[in-house]
Amino acid sequence: DAPVIAVDGPSGAGKGTISHLLADRLGWHFLDSGALYRVTGQACLIEGVSWDDHPAVTEVARHLDVSFTYAESGEVLVAYKGADVSAVIRTEEGGRGASTVAAIPAVRDALLARQREFCRPPGLVADGRDMGTVVFPAADLKFFLTASAEERAERRFKQLISKGESVSLPRLLEDIQERDARDSTRSVSPLVPAEDAIVIDSTTTTIEQVFDQVMLEVAR
Ligand code: C5P
Repeated sequence: DAPVIAVDGPSGAGKGTISHLLADRLGWHFLDSGALYRVTGQACLIEGVSWDDHPAVTEVARHLDVSFTYAESGEVLVAYKGADVSAVIRTEEGGRGASTVAAIPAVRDALLARQREFCRPPGLVADGRDMGTVVFPAADLKFFLTASAEERAERRFKQLISKGESVSLPRLLEDIQERDARDSTRSVSPLVPAEDAIVIDSTTTTIEQVFDQVMLEVAR
């Protein structure tokens, strides 16, 4: 089996950036598991399935026609049934849909095999919430990245402002706290670090410092 590095943590903790950098540096495959949940939420909207209709959402997840393509720019294009959904799945509503459908146990089961298919030579960097606990429990290296909710809201705020979106910081903080609560208290795969995970808190450090720390562990 190919080696796996799991990168888990709450939203806004820098997982996406760190795991992309890591996959690039190592020349390994990359799994954005959050995108699978986001596409599932979006596919429900497209197919006219309510997020509360668990059996129907599960069917959508089971037959999810999703593809990831890598543009020259390094940007990842996510398509559902061949149509680009990259932008719409990244909105706040996309995040709400993802965390709503992600709380359905049968949906998580349906996406399990699909996530494991990403594990191919020379190796995989897997970004998510339960990579090290559920999807790849035998991962060679596990990181759990975290930061205070305030800091994560601030980062998200700057990101959205730079994209020209009008957002309110207190509202973002509330969203993040709500999503944290939902992700860490759900009955299946709650967001907790694996026992053997290396926990890195980036509240007061830069992304470069976190990446250096990660690379030190990888080099061991
Ligand atoms: O990582 P991202 O913010 O794209 O994830 C969106 C949502 O999908 C998370 O808030 C979480 O509810 C869910 N998710 C999950 N398990 C994963 C990845 C994401 O439950 N491995």
